[in-house]
Amino acid sequence: MYQMYDPVFVKLIENGVSLKEIEKRLHPSSGLSRDAEILAHAGFKNYSVSGFLGIDEDLLSLIHEDWKVVLDYGTTHHDIANALSLAIKSLKLPNSDYKIEHNYCSGGIQPCPWECEEPYEYGNGLILIYHKSLTRDEIIAAQYAILFDEEIHDMHRARLDSAALITFNAILADFTKLSNKLAPVTELHPHLIEKHYFFQGKKSVYRSNPEVLIKALNLSRL
Ligand SMILES: [Zn+2]
Repeated sequence: MYQMYDPVFVKLIENGVSLKEIEKRLHPSSGLSRDAEILAHAGFKNYSVSGFLGIDEDLLSLIHEDWKVVLDYGTTHHDIANALSLAIKSLKLPNSDYKIEHNYCSGGIQPCPWECEEPYEYGNGLILIYHKSLTRDEIIAAQYAILFDEEIHDMHRARLDSAALITFNAILADFTKLSNKLAPVTELHPHLIEKHYFFQGKKSVYRSNPEVLIKALNLSRL
């Protein structure tokens, strides 16, 4: 396991893009004009409106923390990415305590923020992996939070009235509570996990909690 500030670890995460720049590329939209958004995303035109990482999250410590989880369960990013890729294609999971379902296709495709020229460079669609104890209402609430989050980021938060912000924060808080039982995934996730060791930020609605994936994919050696 690398130390967090080990230059080899930092280089691995940067992958040709500086930490500062990649963090900007990963941030959500703030509802500015298109040109201003591209500038705020360090020139990355294909930024995600919902974002991969919360505006106040630290990429290096997030990846380092998740890496420890992967090691503690006795598996690897490579094995998770492979098994997840298979699960996305087949819509089947090896652990019958978990379910996988395709929910809807998003309007666009999302390229990798590191702009890799590799397979899985693009990803679209939204798939949910969740523990079977979740109720249908909880699944619907999660889908709603993901959709609502994108709409909210498309507007400037300052323009929202306080009632709308309270509703938004309550929806997100409910969604966060589900994160130990539910993982949203897109076709881009296997690539992000394999090449960038990245499960997305804890403040992103697209985060796939590694613990949920490891359990659902039967990769725990504990
Ligand atoms: Zn990439």
